[in-house]
Amino acid sequence: MSSRFQLGPKSQAFADTALDHVWHPCTQMKDHESMPIIPIAKGKGIWLEDFDGKRYIDAVSSWWVNLFGHSNDFINGKIQEQLSNLEHVILAGFTHQPIVDLSKRLVEKAPQGLTRCFYADNGSSAVEVALKMSFHSYRNKGQHKKTRFISISNGYHGETLAALAVSGVALYKEIYGPLLLDPIEVPSPDSYYRPEGVSPAEHAREMFKHMEAALEEHHETVCAVILEPLIQCAGGMRMYDPEYLRLLREACDKYGVHLIADEIAVGFGRTGTFFACEQADITPDFLCLSKGITAGYLPLSVVMTNEKIYQDFYDDYETLKAFLHSHSYTGNPLACAAALATLDLFERDNVIEENKKLAKVMADSTAHLIDHPHVGDVRQTGMVLAVEMVKDKKTKEAYPWQERRGLDVFKYALNHECLLRPLGNVVYMMPPYVIQPEEIQLLAKVMTDGINAVTAK
Ligand SMILES: *Cc1c(COP(=O)(O)O)cnc(C)c1O
Repeated sequence: MSSRFQLGPKSQAFADTALDHVWHPCTQMKDHESMPIIPIAKGKGIWLEDFDGKRYIDAVSSWWVNLFGHSNDFINGKIQEQLSNLEHVILAGFTHQPIVDLSKRLVEKAPQGLTRCFYADNGSSAVEVALKMSFHSYRNKGQHKKTRFISISNGYHGETLAALAVSGVALYKEIYGPLLLDPIEVPSPDSYYRPEGVSPAEHAREMFKHMEAALEEHHETVCAVILEPLIQCAGGMRMYDPEYLRLLREACDKYGVHLIADEIAVGFGRTGTFFACEQADITPDFLCLSKGITAGYLPLSVVMTNEKIYQDFYDDYETLKAFLHSHSYTGNPLACAAALATLDLFERDNVIEENKKLAKVMADSTAHLIDHPHVGDVRQTGMVLAVEMVKDKKTKEAYPWQERRGLDVFKYALNHECLLRPLGNVVYMMPPYVIQPEEIQLLAKVMTDGINAVTAK
């Protein structure tokens, strides 16, 4: 089935020349010969609008970054206030109010013991920082054998080379293989593949045996384990039980290996708690945050770590133990102001509690899909709900990727006022927290109709 999607005249006219010079991310540019690029003229709340006034619900929060809608009056105001004082300043040797305030508030919010904040300006860079910092802290203590990392299959940590190396999604990684570090990859605890009758917690325990074995064998050369707590987002919104994180924390302590929690996508309330790690009641050695940190306004990331690791670097200059990493826009004041406004909104609007009601609407409005003959799974953790289309419901055999059925759902949804950009055969909603119950119901209906249409043949 090939769903057609067409723009109105003004948007089409703009789209006709928009591709002359811009090379878009994560895109085979030739696709735009048959599928127009969509120009967005403005956004308000959960709605995006093109040049002809055609609207779309931003059901994927603009790649998982937006929390409180587009052009949010409160956040706009806070950024404008900051803009009239200071737009940016070098962060080496200098500091500023928003970054000091933000660090204090992040430390209050984060799992107990994460008292130090190191900033960068995007998620991949935060992952690079955590990997380097882990390695370097051992080196500063004379542990020179520790040079490797343990990662999990189907994980995703960004697309700069080291972040890509510890990722496990072949689509992004395979081609760059010759350039990459060589981590030890263990199988994911992904609940999707648990045998019938086995609970997610039991499955997590079973799958943890692979991790335990890898730690036992390699701990002397391993700096850290890196993973995404609870949801492997780019890997298709695959979910697993918090039990895995509890076991991992224990084992990392036992074997003297750091634990890097990449909460770049799942932090800031996505999983139902402010941080995903809270659901396992653990404190990682490094917590990577980005995406929702500024509610989708400006690029910012942070790696939070503990006092012990901070002290591994803290010494006289001549010892040359200082951590070496910097970016020009590190800790940008406007971005920090957006992050502070984001934290304000969480408190002012009691967001974590209110989201529970929205999450229930997401569940209720899509529950029927589990009986669909071409749906292999409907899964949810907090404000992320994913539906996996399959060729064969019984065996969970996937549709061949070449058929691009997810893309057809995307086109169908665009024709019905929804931006539901899929991950392969996985259609999901991960909306801004200001979405209304009726809007979730509309998304669910479009999702259902779209899935019906593309699986009909
Ligand atoms: C998006 C993402 C990253 C990379 O962040 P960028 O800002 O896109 O570089 C890293 N880890 C996870 C879990 C992500 O979802």
